[in-house]
Amino acid sequence: MPKKYQTGLMWFRRDLRAQDNAALFHALKACHRVFCVFVFDRDILDALPRADRRVEFIRESLLDLDGQLRGLGHENGVTDAGLLVLHDRASAALPALAARLAVDAVFANHDDEPQSLARDASVQARLEAQGVAFHSFKDHVIFERSEVLTLAGKPYSVFTPYKNAWLKKIDRFYLTPYPVEKYAAALASAAAEADRGIPTLQALGFEKTNLSALKIPIGSRGGATLLEDFLGRIAHYDEKRNFPAVKGPSYLGVHLRFGTVSIRALAAAALSQQQAGNAGAASWLSELVWRDFYAQILSNFPHAASQAFKPDYDAIAWEQGDKADTLFQAWCDGQTGYPLVDAAMAQINQTGYMHNRLRMVSASFLVKDLGIDWRRGERYFAEKLNDFDLSANNGGWQWAASTGCDAQPYFRIFNPVSQSEKFDADGSFIRKYLPVLAGLPASALHSPWLARPLDLAAAGVVLGENYPAPIVQHDEARALTLQRYAVVRKRDR
Ligand code: FAD
Repeated sequence: MPKKYQTGLMWFRRDLRAQDNAALFHALKACHRVFCVFVFDRDILDALPRADRRVEFIRESLLDLDGQLRGLGHENGVTDAGLLVLHDRASAALPALAARLAVDAVFANHDDEPQSLARDASVQARLEAQGVAFHSFKDHVIFERSEVLTLAGKPYSVFTPYKNAWLKKIDRFYLTPYPVEKYAAALASAAAEADRGIPTLQALGFEKTNLSALKIPIGSRGGATLLEDFLGRIAHYDEKRNFPAVKGPSYLGVHLRFGTVSIRALAAAALSQQQAGNAGAASWLSELVWRDFYAQILSNFPHAASQAFKPDYDAIAWEQGDKADTLFQAWCDGQTGYPLVDAAMAQINQTGYMHNRLRMVSASFLVKDLGIDWRRGERYFAEKLNDFDLSANNGGWQWAASTGCDAQPYFRIFNPVSQSEKFDADGSFIRKYLPVLAGLPASALHSPWLARPLDLAAAGVVLGENYPAPIVQHDEARALTLQRYAVVRKRDR
């Protein structure tokens, strides 16, 4: 087929890989030569704290991506194919770059978060005014937007029927990788361009974090390493996934977030193992389907980004004022006096990761033990999580707060002590993140306020001094929560 355009521009965003990349494939196929760019968008970056693991993760992943593009170019006779990198406001800088490079079309993958959609609409309008086409593609999920609908043509809001429809629709077509390599000779040499080179963290206005000390594998190479490691233990995923001290999950969240792995590759691997009868793979595939589920929820019900999915739940009166602020701060700092919650908060604060079971427990604690608006917790996670994704984070918080689609019922309130006894029975996780409690026997670790004074003294724990006494009593908080949610119960009648 003849090529449609002379020159194209591939705009990387949350798809930081050269392999199996939908927009890159289409760009190379449609254009004689294709420049590649990433924009460190000031509209996003300027709102972040100055030490942010994600900025560092992206920057290092770009070094990897640049290397991949150069390698692909080199194999196809193009010297110095590679990434251009801007540090600017994308909405204006991208059209300006398109004009400078005299491109005929810009290619990008979909990003359906409300702010990204607004940015893309503005970029597209500016490009079109310049006579430049804008083409975008699905890449980040298996099924997007309105691809999976009920028989009545409506979006699903309940997971299980959505998953059944997803599994019915999936076939090789949706999982086949895009053969970028086949058209890589169209990569443009970027040698003469001013925007070559990846800025240092300092030039971006950021400080180094503990990312390298955490040894989180970065870039596509890192994603591939994690995937290989996980596929070796995927069969045990369903037995191990709930225990935070155990290496059960894949830890691929940050790679899925930034597209340093292909969702098609992950789903294909899980599906083939599920079809071979692997229960762990079936359970993991389900989690990937949850990811698609929440992405389509945000896309079809954008009000959920800022309000309760179920509007009636916006009538709930959350705690406000100084006391609520103090409780919220204690939660953020891991100073609630409930060891599993505090260890979970230490994990997110120190590493940017939190185990899924603990995301549920700590979110439930904030909303249903402290009575704090789920949106405050959602914002805190959004700032801290390496794998922060608006749709999954919002879905998880609304699930925990019972305000969401297919959420847990409002009267289901996690008991932070029994969750601790069940999922960290020997206290390994708590001991790792709360060394101050490490000397307590397991029997005392989950609720130190009930420990024998002898055990506390032997472990060097002084409640109220080096570890807090509980900031609320769970049973009292539970009763208050049931009252708080009564407003919904009355409306439900
Ligand atoms: P694995 O267990 O190996 O799962 C593989 C992948 O499946 C994950 O990386 C993720 O992409 C997807 N996935 C798993 N569980 C879910 C789920 N419940 N919803 C949507 N996708 C899922 N996930 C995020 O990716 N970003 C978030 O910002 C986020 N915030 C959350 C907030 C709360 C309150 C809760 C309860 C859950 C949240 N999750 C979020 C879902 C889940 O906790 C993480 O995806 C998971 O812990 C990431 O670790 P992993 O990659 O090792 O997961």
